[in-house]
Amino acid sequence: MKFIPRQLHEAADNSRGGKEGWRSRFKGILSAVLVLGAVYIALGFLADWSVHFVSEETEAAWFSWTDEVLLQAAQPPSAAVQGIFDKLILDSGLRPYPYRLVMMPERIPNAFALPGGTIMVTSGLLDLVETEIGRAMVLGHELGHLQYRHGLKGLGRSLLLAGALSMAGFDSSSLLRQTPLLAEMRHSRVQEAESDTFGLNLVYAKYGTTEGALEFFEDISLLEGGNPAGLTHGMQSWLQTHPLTEVRLAHLRSQASALEN
Ligand SMILES: [Zn+2]
Repeated sequence: MKFIPRQLHEAADNSRGGKEGWRSRFKGILSAVLVLGAVYIALGFLADWSVHFVSEETEAAWFSWTDEVLLQAAQPPSAAVQGIFDKLILDSGLRPYPYRLVMMPERIPNAFALPGGTIMVTSGLLDLVETEIGRAMVLGHELGHLQYRHGLKGLGRSLLLAGALSMAGFDSSSLLRQTPLLAEMRHSRVQEAESDTFGLNLVYAKYGTTEGALEFFEDISLLEGGNPAGLTHGMQSWLQTHPLTEVRLAHLRSQASALEN
């Protein structure tokens, strides 16, 4: 008889089983998301830390195959564009990469920095940005991605994540298939901001001014803010890999005016 009240109580609990079950499922999902988030962040730190052990020379050797792939379609840039690039890479503060600039005959405006020191720019971007300083800013921004080794860190994180997923029994082959996303290199907002600052400082150091440096960024912003539906496919492509926000542009403008004054 002593246990009857408890049995009744348990029965009462069972009547609310649906709600309790939902709560415990929610807690379970939340815990899993938190654990996965923590693992992802930890892998990011690990990847960032690991790149300190990879010399620029080793990185260039690892990714020399990208040059072979690119050379099949790439063209040498014009003397004028190569001249801007040469002027920028003469900076003594740059990492000792075997820097190289290649041009892709491609209507879509875009530019990428590949791990190992190669920067690729499309003819579409050079058609759009015609001033020397505007082009220098785009190239300087990509040099910033190399300076901070964003590409290598991103690939390291993907590889570590794939390894962790495999150890946990998941099929990570689709992730690995996407890992050589050299043509779709995406960077975080923090990385974009770092590269913007780097590029702008480099342009100022070489040209003594930042006037006109934001040409491309302002063109894109106008198109984005004025008529997003009217964005060409090319612009959307650039924005996917180089997210441009009003905050980012405002930041660039304030940095430019701080340099000028
Ligand atoms: Zn970028």
